[in-house]
Amino acid sequence: MSDTNLDKKNVDQVNIEAIHDKDLRIVLGSLGLSESIDNGTLLCKFCSRPIKWDNIGAIFLKKGNVTICCNMVECLNNLKSMG
Ligand SMILES: [Zn+2]
Repeated sequence: MSDTNLDKKNVDQVNIEAIHDKDLRIVLGSLGLSESIDNGTLLCKFCSRPIKWDNIGAIFLKKGNVTICCNMVECLNNLKSMG
């Protein structure tokens, strides 16, 4: 069951993304956000694209607020500049 995600991944990305994916699901599940991602209703803070499991760029926790952005370089840079 836990390996079903691997089928969707490119072979050269499996090792990295499989680890991220597990961590992300645990983290996002604990935040109650995994359903929103499955439904495509969670949006990137910066570009407002739907966040999916394969385009999550970063999760940023600050003072109880969760910021999530996609994996586009511009959005990641925006997140960094937020400190
Ligand atoms: Zn974005």
